[in-house]
Amino acid sequence: MASKEELRKRKTYLQIAGFECSNCHKTTREDGTRSLLRCTRCRMSYYCSKSCQKADFSFHKQFCTAIEELSNEDEVWYSCNGKESEWNKRKIYHMQLLAAALDRDLTSYESNAWLNQPKCHVCFRTSRDLESRSALIPCPNCHVVFCCSNEHWEQHQSKHKSLCQTYQIMVQCEKIRYQGTSETLWAPEEWDESYIYPPLPKDWNSYLKWRKAPQFNQLDAICRVITNTLSVPLTILSALERFYSRNQLRSFDDLVVHLIGAGKYEVLALMSFEEIMHILPNIKTLQLILIGIELPSKTIGVSLQCCPRCTKANRKRIYSLHSTSYDEYSVSDDFITPQIVVGFNIDLNEETWNSSIEFLIEKELPCIFTSYSKEEANQNVKMLKDLGAKIIVGAKENKWGSTMPLVEPQETDKFYYNNYYRTLLKGKA
Ligand SMILES: [Zn+2]
Ligand SMILES: [Zn+2]
Ligand SMILES: [Zn+2]
Ligand SMILES: [Zn+2]
Ligand SMILES: [Zn+2]
Repeated sequence: MASKEELRKRKTYLQIAGFECSNCHKTTREDGTRSLLRCTRCRMSYYCSKSCQKADFSFHKQFCTAIEELSNEDEVWYSCNGKESEWNKRKIYHMQLLAAALDRDLTSYESNAWLNQPKCHVCFRTSRDLESRSALIPCPNCHVVFCCSNEHWEQHQSKHKSLCQTYQIMVQCEKIRYQGTSETLWAPEEWDESYIYPPLPKDWNSYLKWRKAPQFNQLDAICRVITNTLSVPLTILSALERFYSRNQLRSFDDLVVHLIGAGKYEVLALMSFEEIMHILPNIKTLQLILIGIELPSKTIGVSLQCCPRCTKANRKRIYSLHSTSYDEYSVSDDFITPQIVVGFNIDLNEETWNSSIEFLIEKELPCIFTSYSKEEANQNVKMLKDLGAKIIVGAKENKWGSTMPLVEPQETDKFYYNNYYRTLLKGKA
């Protein structure tokens, strides 16, 4: 789980955009004037005061020095000729140079800051590329989109108008997530017992009402952040509904879930799985088995703390981490047959998933895969069909997808949402 310090170091879009102090999130200088002090070495970090700059320096120093070195070499700042594709290429090239200068991989903060650095949305120049090295002009509403001149703003205005609100929502959600104003891993303990699952309610709003959280509105930023986490258990529950009868569902006492291709997203969502126990009240033990090469080292059978009500009823939520491929896991002694196999935001074409998928089809295990985009979902379906899978639901919009917009760093003005599309399969066609 991310520590407070880790979260602080992540830096938000508003900080990267120079709208908030990189250290304390203040939006104006100490003396009340609007524009923050810019680090004179890297020109990429902003502070409300000298003392904030000082406080951030031990953290900022290495990256700052590497950027300064890069800035001194004019040929690496070749013109992108106003082309987005060139700008994307140059960014990656710069990141390679920065990694070489640092003699290590960039941290997630560093690559995030670099990928999302301010640039003109029309000509793709950064303030470093401008003649006078003058600052870019931010949008007065979202503060995270820039143009180099009023002229370019006039050109970009109509396109940005339709996207500005999504940028604003993204920024609000980020504040909630990174400034620790609320514990966003929300697993409510109260529920309306007159409503018996299955099925799940028809949408997020009716779900929140059922869970006695009517103070939240589907469109509020806080609610969007909640859906990003709760999307995990609800997407699983909605898939279970398709594979098992009502009686089967209510008779599970030991539910085993495989999370394949798992990483940070699944680990951060571990607490929210208690929602499955609240909705399926007969489960005694919920076993979450995470399998993925990005996971930390192997951990077996760790008990997570449950809410007082579940604890009193002696119910258990256990997780195991297997930092390996599903292929290796499936032939290991650790293998436990699951009731459902889940792959969140998975690109089955990306890795060598073929033999794992063949195994899942052969064993007739119920599977659900989610995707960020329709295109990725369609590609997954094609790949699954080619391997002979019986598709139950193919690349359909997931009503339990996250409603929290995330910025696609490699494509300007593109947003994505976790678990937006889903595909269900079981056995051979
Ligand atoms: Zn500050
Ligand atoms: Zn600096
Ligand atoms: Zn421009
Ligand atoms: Zn805007
Ligand atoms: Zn509970």
